Amino acid sequence: MDSIASSVRIVARTPRNIAPILDAGTAQVLKRLMHETFASFAATFAPTPGARRFSHEIAAALALYFNLLSLLREGGAVGEALYWVARKDLLLTTTNGDEERRRRRGRLALVAALVHVAGPYLDNKVAQLREDAELVLSLPPDEAGDSSSSSATANTVASRARAFLLRALVRAHPVVKLGLGLQDVWSRIRFTANLSRFATLEHWLVEMPVGRLTPAEWNAQNRLREAARARWLARARASPSAPRRWALAALLRTRFLAEDYNKVALLALAVGCKSLEWWYNSGEEAAREALKTRSNLPPPPAPTPSSHASAKKLPRSSQVCPICRQRKEDPTCLTCSGYVFCYNCIMVHVKAHGKCPVTLIRATEEHVRRLYLNS
Ligand SMILES: [Zn+2]
Repeated sequence: MDSIASSVRIVARTPRNIAPILDAGTAQVLKRLMHETFASFAATFAPTPGARRFSHEIAAALALYFNLLSLLREGGAVGEALYWVARKDLLLTTTNGDEERRRRRGRLALVAALVHVAGPYLDNKVAQLREDAELVLSLPPDEAGDSSSSSATANTVASRARAFLLRALVRAHPVVKLGLGLQDVWSRIRFTANLSRFATLEHWLVEMPVGRLTPAEWNAQNRLREAARARWLARARASPSAPRRWALAALLRTRFLAEDYNKVALLALAVGCKSLEWWYNSGEEAAREALKTRSNLPPPPAPTPSSHASAKKLPRSSQVCPICRQRKEDPTCLTCSGYVFCYNCIMVHVKAHGKCPVTLIRATEEHVRRLYLNS
């Protein structure tokens, strides 16, 4: 019995049984929201398109910072601390500053934070790879790969293998994600019902059964934290210079306030950003509905692409430029045919050939119109 008790390294910091029930939803939602919020923030405010590509990495760095802060202050990662679960090794257990112990805590917290960040980061990265794979698969086979290779047969084998892998990724990704999600909810339900000592697959893998703090231990935790804060404040007040004393105390109080409320603020921020997104999306939908009811004019017929050998074939994806076969950059319409290309691609093409590349209708630079979709 004693050996089991001493091997329990994660504890619910409440003697009641409700914490892991809250945990089931919150942990997942929070991890995702945090990462998505940070990533879209990074993508919006990135100074260059190059930096925008690293939005997931920036989000991971921010999530790492907040998780590390939470692990060192609360003994649990952001998601864990929010529902009062903590790692026993990381809780304050001593009143004097034992250097060796402090360093060990730091190490353990870093590992835990990395584990908490790696999951959502890989999740988002794989989702991005899948999106890119979908784009590549939507291109016609002759345009998808690099066809400049001299060995034609080796090239087909390689491109076929590549297409196979991409298709496998696109098909398997949602299934694996659903499976992992269901597994997670199921193991948390089992834990809550006292059928298992492990709350998640991660806990089970690292053999970390989850226990609960007794009310006495819980109170002792809070007393230790208050004592540590009082000590810091006393040290700040012992400073000989008055402005320095005042500044240090103000800094410490701000820090305590941030520690006490950072999770609430973070959650509010994440939920707020998500709600704004939904708000704007529903607004756009309403506008589209209103437009539909206003008139029932049928759309004009699409211009016919030329079957001539020199004409560019239309890619399957509307996102792809018929000339360069990449995602359209600065979408630009050739008004005589109505087809949309990259600004650069169509400008160069019209100057060189004086025709629409798809329909071969005669065109001049006057027909080139950049599209501005409300931005
Ligand atoms: Zn292009």
